[in-house]
Amino acid sequence: MRKVPLGRTGLEVSEVAFGGIPIQRLSHDDAVAVVRGCLNLGITLLDTAHGYTTSEERIGAAIAGRRDRVVLASKTPASTAAEAEAHLAESLRRLDVSHIDLYQLHGVSDAERWRQVTAPGGPLGVLRSAQRSGVIGHIGITSHQVDVAKEAVRSGYFATVMFPLNFVAREPGLELLEVCRETGVAFLAMKPMGGGMLENARLAFSFLRQYPDVIPVVGIERLSEMAEIVALYDTAPALGERDQQEMERIRQELGTSFCRRCDYCQPCAAGIRISTVLNVPAMMRRMPPESIFGQGWARAAVDSVADCQDCGECETRCPYKLPIRARMKEVVAMYREAEAAWRT
Ligand code: SF4
Ligand code: SF4
Repeated sequence: MRKVPLGRTGLEVSEVAFGGIPIQRLSHDDAVAVVRGCLNLGITLLDTAHGYTTSEERIGAAIAGRRDRVVLASKTPASTAAEAEAHLAESLRRLDVSHIDLYQLHGVSDAERWRQVTAPGGPLGVLRSAQRSGVIGHIGITSHQVDVAKEAVRSGYFATVMFPLNFVAREPGLELLEVCRETGVAFLAMKPMGGGMLENARLAFSFLRQYPDVIPVVGIERLSEMAEIVALYDTAPALGERDQQEMERIRQELGTSFCRRCDYCQPCAAGIRISTVLNVPAMMRRMPPESIFGQGWARAAVDSVADCQDCGECETRCPYKLPIRARMKEVVAMYREAEAAWRT
């Protein structure tokens, strides 16, 4: 696996990164084996998050004895300084390390949250102080909203930004990539396979390989999936005319069903986080059921749909003309049914 610079950090990482969401669904031993297998394939950038339940602990176990060969990234969803301090301490403990190479502010996707994390005495201040004392190497940010992400990249606070990019949801990511190139901020691509919506790995990664400074963060459960992607990066030819046509066909097909998480549908009069609701089915496939059906973000999002006032404003603003209200109702029905099956 080829190594590429991680922006201006001075670090070099594999051109594909490991994403730590799906290993939550495995047993501890299987998860450790998958991470070690990925290291053996040449993956050197491992990304996880404080919010991914067992993921940090499993990655920590997998890198024991190999810490110096990996670049470790994690994140905090903190809104306050106290939360950021607690999350960082817990990430270090779970990963069983004294230093995290990249610690990111997680899910900063609206103006209010941007104000929260950058407020004086807030989470960013905690991370900057941890960086000065050497506990973290660099500070990054993750976002689903392109205007917030661009502001973050231009702010000069961050070494990396993680943002969705795949051949279906490409425009906002490519817009952000231009700003990253101007500023030297590294672009980490989340959802390279559209959060599970895209099945053709060859197409998905051939698309991303066109941008050698984009590092996809790939969440996998089976080592064979990562082996396939590594082989694609090592050998696959450039996109041909037929590939372009096939991508266009898939774009058209997903056009009215695929939420790009751009948040152009906001603001919602009822305060519903529409893109979060529409993302619940993809996360149901990737996250452990206890975190989906517990008292967390997924339940809160699904429950909030009951507040919809049926005004239809969101649908007039969605550039992809998604039938948002109908899709939200489908998500609620799917969630309730899956929850009932899980509880029996
Ligand atoms: S239709 Fe419902 S979800 Fe859409 S903006 Fe109105 S209240 Fe919000
Ligand atoms: S519903 Fe439409 S506007 Fe809202 S986040 Fe999804 S794709 Fe964007």
